[in-house]
Amino acid sequence: MARTVLVTGGNRGIGLAIAQAFAKQGDRVAVTHRGSGAPEGLFGVQCDITDSAAVDAAFTEVENALGPVEVLVANAGVTQDTLLLRMSEEQFTGVIDTNLTGSFRCAKRAASKMLRARWGRIIFISSVVGLYGSPGQVNYAASKAGLVGMARSITRELGSRNITANVVAPGFIETDMTAVLPEATQAEYKKNIPLGRMAKPEEVADVVTFLAGDAAAYITGAVIPVDGGMGMGH
Ligand code: NDP
Repeated sequence: MARTVLVTGGNRGIGLAIAQAFAKQGDRVAVTHRGSGAPEGLFGVQCDITDSAAVDAAFTEVENALGPVEVLVANAGVTQDTLLLRMSEEQFTGVIDTNLTGSFRCAKRAASKMLRARWGRIIFISSVVGLYGSPGQVNYAASKAGLVGMARSITRELGSRNITANVVAPGFIETDMTAVLPEATQAEYKKNIPLGRMAKPEEVADVVTFLAGDAAAYITGAVIPVDGGMGMGH
Protein backbone atom coordinates (compact mmCIF):
# COMPACT_ATOMS: atom_id res chain seq x y z
CA MET A 1 0.00 0.00 0.00
CA ALA A 2 1.45 3.35 -1.05
CA ARG A 3 2.02 5.81 1.79
CA THR A 4 2.74 9.51 2.04
CA VAL A 5 6.28 9.93 3.33
CA LEU A 6 8.12 13.07 4.42
CA VAL A 7 11.89 12.99 4.78
CA THR A 8 13.49 16.05 6.35
CA GLY A 9 16.80 16.90 4.73
CA GLY A 10 15.88 14.57 1.91
CA ASN A 11 17.60 16.70 -0.70
CA ARG A 12 21.03 15.08 -0.19
CA GLY A 13 23.07 12.51 1.71
CA ILE A 14 21.35 9.83 3.78
CA GLY A 15 17.99 11.64 3.53
CA LEU A 16 18.09 11.55 -0.27
CA ALA A 17 18.89 7.83 -0.27
CA ILE A 18 15.95 7.26 2.10
CA ALA A 19 13.59 9.35 -0.05
CA GLN A 20 14.66 7.51 -3.20
CA ALA A 21 14.17 4.11 -1.53
CA PHE A 22 10.57 5.00 -0.61
CA ALA A 23 9.93 6.43 -4.09
CA LYS A 24 11.28 3.24 -5.66
CA GLN A 25 8.74 1.15 -3.77
CA GLY A 26 5.92 3.37 -5.02
CA ASP A 27 5.26 5.68 -2.07
CA ARG A 28 4.38 9.37 -2.40
CA VAL A 29 7.54 11.08 -1.18
CA ALA A 30 8.18 14.65 -0.10
CA VAL A 31 11.52 16.04 1.02
CA THR A 32 12.43 19.24 2.79
CA HIS A 33 15.25 21.42 1.55
CA ARG A 34 16.55 24.84 2.51
CA GLY A 35 16.67 26.38 -0.95
CA SER A 36 18.51 23.77 -3.03
CA GLY A 37 15.25 22.56 -4.58
CA ALA A 38 14.19 18.92 -4.67
CA PRO A 39 16.01 16.24 -6.62
CA GLU A 40 14.17 15.02 -9.73
CA GLY A 41 11.13 12.88 -9.06
CA LEU A 42 10.65 14.02 -5.46
CA PHE A 43 8.16 16.58 -4.16
CA GLY A 44 10.14 19.36 -2.47
CA VAL A 45 9.10 21.78 0.24
CA GLN A 46 11.32 24.52 1.53
CA CYS A 47 11.68 24.28 5.29
CA ASP A 48 14.16 25.13 8.01
CA ILE A 49 13.30 22.81 10.89
CA THR A 50 14.47 25.35 13.47
CA ASP A 51 11.38 27.40 12.57
CA SER A 52 8.04 26.00 13.87
CA ALA A 53 5.98 28.10 11.45
CA ALA A 54 8.04 26.83 8.52
CA VAL A 55 7.56 23.24 9.71
CA ASP A 56 3.80 23.77 9.96
CA ALA A 57 3.68 25.36 6.49
CA ALA A 58 5.76 22.54 4.98
CA PHE A 59 3.44 19.87 6.38
CA THR A 60 0.40 21.77 5.10
CA GLU A 61 1.96 21.99 1.63
CA VAL A 62 2.68 18.24 1.63
CA GLU A 63 -0.85 17.46 2.89
CA ASN A 64 -2.39 19.53 0.12
CA ALA A 65 -0.28 17.89 -2.58
CA LEU A 66 0.15 14.30 -1.40
CA GLY A 67 -2.17 13.80 1.59
CA PRO A 68 -1.43 13.60 5.33
CA VAL A 69 2.07 12.45 6.24
CA GLU A 70 1.87 8.80 7.28
CA VAL A 71 5.59 8.16 7.55
CA LEU A 72 7.90 10.81 8.97
CA VAL A 73 11.64 10.38 8.69
CA ALA A 74 13.30 13.02 10.90
CA ASN A 75 16.69 12.97 9.23
CA ALA A 76 17.89 16.59 8.95
CA GLY A 77 20.88 17.20 11.15
CA VAL A 78 24.07 19.17 11.59
CA THR A 79 27.40 18.92 13.38
CA GLN A 80 29.44 21.69 14.92
CA ASP A 81 32.36 19.86 16.46
CA THR A 82 34.77 21.19 19.01
CA LEU A 83 36.06 20.12 22.40
CA LEU A 84 33.94 20.76 25.49
CA LEU A 85 36.06 23.58 26.91
CA ARG A 86 36.02 25.40 23.55
CA MET A 87 32.33 24.82 22.86
CA SER A 88 30.22 27.96 23.13
CA GLU A 89 26.70 27.82 24.43
CA GLU A 90 25.53 28.85 20.94
CA GLN A 91 27.38 25.89 19.40
CA PHE A 92 25.66 23.60 21.88
CA THR A 93 22.15 24.99 21.64
CA GLY A 94 22.39 25.46 17.86
CA VAL A 95 23.00 21.76 17.25
CA ILE A 96 20.29 20.80 19.76
CA ASP A 97 17.84 23.20 18.09
CA THR A 98 18.25 21.49 14.73
CA ASN A 99 18.83 17.84 15.60
CA LEU A 100 16.63 17.42 18.67
CA THR A 101 14.13 20.28 18.84
CA GLY A 102 13.79 20.24 15.04
CA SER A 103 12.86 16.55 15.18
CA PHE A 104 10.39 17.32 17.99
CA ARG A 105 8.74 20.06 15.90
CA CYS A 106 8.29 17.65 12.98
CA ALA A 107 7.14 14.70 15.11
CA LYS A 108 4.56 16.83 16.93
CA ARG A 109 3.17 18.22 13.68
CA ALA A 110 3.06 14.77 12.10
CA ALA A 111 1.51 13.07 15.13
CA SER A 112 -1.70 15.11 15.12
CA LYS A 113 -2.69 13.71 11.71
CA MET A 114 -1.35 10.22 12.50
CA LEU A 115 -3.57 10.14 15.59
CA ARG A 116 -6.60 10.98 13.49
CA ALA A 117 -5.68 8.23 11.02
CA ARG A 118 -4.81 5.81 13.82
CA TRP A 119 -1.71 4.82 11.89
CA GLY A 120 1.74 6.29 11.67
CA ARG A 121 5.44 5.58 11.48
CA ILE A 122 8.00 7.98 12.94
CA ILE A 123 11.67 7.22 12.35
CA PHE A 124 14.38 9.35 13.87
CA ILE A 125 17.87 9.32 12.37
CA SER A 126 20.18 9.39 15.35
CA SER A 127 23.84 8.27 15.35
CA VAL A 128 26.07 5.65 16.92
CA VAL A 129 27.70 8.47 18.88
CA GLY A 130 24.42 9.23 20.69
CA LEU A 131 24.99 6.27 23.00
CA TYR A 132 28.72 5.63 22.38
CA GLY A 133 29.95 9.20 22.86
CA SER A 134 32.52 11.00 20.77
CA PRO A 135 35.22 13.50 21.70
CA GLY A 136 34.46 16.90 20.17
CA GLN A 137 30.77 16.09 19.79
CA VAL A 138 29.23 16.85 23.18
CA ASN A 139 26.49 18.87 21.47
CA TYR A 140 25.86 16.38 18.65
CA ALA A 141 25.94 13.27 20.86
CA ALA A 142 23.56 14.89 23.36
CA SER A 143 21.14 15.76 20.55
CA LYS A 144 21.27 12.22 19.14
CA ALA A 145 20.87 10.54 22.54
CA GLY A 146 17.87 12.78 23.16
CA LEU A 147 16.14 11.27 20.15
CA VAL A 148 16.12 7.89 21.92
CA GLY A 149 14.20 9.26 24.90
CA MET A 150 11.89 11.11 22.56
CA ALA A 151 11.10 8.04 20.45
CA ARG A 152 10.52 5.88 23.50
CA SER A 153 8.20 8.44 25.11
CA ILE A 154 6.24 8.79 21.87
CA THR A 155 6.03 4.99 21.78
CA ARG A 156 4.46 4.96 25.23
CA GLU A 157 2.12 7.87 24.42
CA LEU A 158 0.93 6.82 20.99
CA GLY A 159 1.52 3.08 20.72
CA SER A 160 -2.12 2.25 21.38
CA ARG A 161 -3.05 4.28 18.28
CA ASN A 162 -0.92 2.11 16.00
CA ILE A 163 1.83 4.71 15.75
CA THR A 164 5.38 3.42 16.04
CA ALA A 165 8.45 5.49 16.80
CA ASN A 166 11.89 4.07 16.18
CA VAL A 167 15.47 5.27 16.05
CA VAL A 168 18.04 4.36 13.44
CA ALA A 169 21.61 4.88 14.62
CA PRO A 170 24.00 4.97 11.67
CA GLY A 171 27.73 4.66 12.12
CA PHE A 172 30.13 6.06 9.58
CA ILE A 173 28.30 6.78 6.31
CA GLU A 174 29.74 8.21 3.09
CA THR A 175 28.12 11.67 2.80
CA ASP A 176 29.09 15.36 2.79
CA MET A 177 29.04 15.24 6.61
CA THR A 178 31.87 12.72 6.77
CA ALA A 179 33.70 13.86 3.61
CA VAL A 180 34.94 16.91 5.51
CA LEU A 181 36.79 14.73 8.06
CA PRO A 182 40.58 14.55 7.54
CA GLU A 183 41.96 11.29 6.03
CA ALA A 184 43.71 10.44 9.31
CA THR A 185 40.45 10.77 11.28
CA GLN A 186 38.63 8.59 8.76
CA ALA A 187 41.36 5.93 8.99
CA GLU A 188 41.18 6.02 12.78
CA TYR A 189 37.39 5.55 12.72
CA LYS A 190 37.67 2.60 10.33
CA LYS A 191 39.98 0.81 12.78
CA ASN A 192 37.07 0.72 15.24
CA ILE A 193 34.53 -0.68 12.77
CA PRO A 194 34.44 -4.48 12.79
CA LEU A 195 33.29 -4.50 9.16
CA GLY A 196 36.29 -2.28 8.36
CA ARG A 197 34.52 0.09 6.00
CA MET A 198 32.15 3.01 5.81
CA ALA A 199 28.56 2.40 4.69
CA LYS A 200 26.72 3.73 1.69
CA PRO A 201 23.64 5.87 2.44
CA GLU A 202 21.52 3.20 0.75
CA GLU A 203 22.41 0.77 3.54
CA VAL A 204 20.72 3.10 6.03
CA ALA A 205 17.77 3.66 3.68
CA ASP A 206 16.99 -0.06 3.51
CA VAL A 207 16.57 -0.21 7.29
CA VAL A 208 14.33 2.86 7.31
CA THR A 209 11.98 1.48 4.65
CA PHE A 210 11.86 -1.80 6.57
CA LEU A 211 10.82 0.03 9.75
CA ALA A 212 8.06 1.84 7.87
CA GLY A 213 6.76 -1.35 6.28
CA ASP A 214 4.28 -4.00 7.39
CA ALA A 215 7.08 -6.44 8.32
CA ALA A 216 8.10 -4.07 11.14
CA ALA A 217 4.58 -3.41 12.47
CA TYR A 218 5.48 -4.80 15.93
CA ILE A 219 8.80 -2.95 16.27
CA THR A 220 8.60 0.28 18.26
CA GLY A 221 10.79 2.18 20.68
CA ALA A 222 13.77 0.36 19.20
CA VAL A 223 17.23 1.69 18.44
CA ILE A 224 18.51 -0.06 15.32
CA PRO A 225 22.25 0.31 14.70
CA VAL A 226 23.54 0.50 11.13
CA ASP A 227 27.17 0.89 12.06
CA GLY A 228 29.17 -2.14 10.94
CA GLY A 229 29.39 -3.24 14.57
CA MET A 230 31.07 -0.04 15.77
CA GLY A 231 28.77 0.61 18.72
CA MET A 232 28.03 -2.95 19.81
CA GLY A 233 26.50 -3.14 23.26
CA HIS A 234 25.66 0.55 23.44
P1 NDP B 1 24.45 15.94 5.21
O1 NDP B 1 25.31 16.95 5.87
O2 NDP B 1 24.89 15.29 3.94
O3 NDP B 1 22.96 16.52 5.02
C1 NDP B 1 22.30 17.12 6.09
C2 NDP B 1 20.88 17.37 5.69
O4 NDP B 1 20.20 18.02 6.78
C3 NDP B 1 20.76 18.29 4.49
O5 NDP B 1 19.68 17.90 3.70
C4 NDP B 1 20.49 19.64 5.14
O6 NDP B 1 19.79 20.56 4.33
C5 NDP B 1 19.60 19.20 6.29
N1 NDP B 1 19.51 20.22 7.34
C6 NDP B 1 20.49 20.65 8.16
N2 NDP B 1 20.02 21.62 8.97
C7 NDP B 1 18.71 21.80 8.65
C8 NDP B 1 17.70 22.65 9.12
N3 NDP B 1 17.91 23.53 10.10
N4 NDP B 1 16.48 22.57 8.55
C9 NDP B 1 16.24 21.70 7.56
N5 NDP B 1 17.16 20.87 7.05
C10 NDP B 1 18.39 20.92 7.60
O7 NDP B 1 24.20 14.85 6.33
P2 NDP B 1 24.04 13.26 6.26
O8 NDP B 1 23.22 12.87 5.11
O9 NDP B 1 25.38 12.66 6.46
O10 NDP B 1 23.22 13.03 7.62
C11 NDP B 1 21.82 12.87 7.67
C12 NDP B 1 21.45 12.50 9.10
O11 NDP B 1 22.16 11.32 9.47
C13 NDP B 1 21.85 13.57 10.11
O12 NDP B 1 20.87 13.66 11.11
C14 NDP B 1 23.14 13.03 10.67
O13 NDP B 1 23.37 13.51 11.97
C15 NDP B 1 22.88 11.55 10.65
N6 NDP B 1 24.08 10.73 10.67
C16 NDP B 1 25.03 10.81 9.69
C17 NDP B 1 26.15 10.00 9.73
C18 NDP B 1 27.21 10.01 8.69
O14 NDP B 1 28.22 9.30 8.86
N7 NDP B 1 27.07 10.74 7.59
C19 NDP B 1 26.36 9.07 10.83
C20 NDP B 1 25.30 9.05 11.81
C21 NDP B 1 24.22 9.86 11.70
P3 NDP B 1 20.59 21.57 3.35
O15 NDP B 1 20.92 20.79 2.11
O16 NDP B 1 19.62 22.64 3.13
O17 NDP B 1 21.82 22.01 4.09
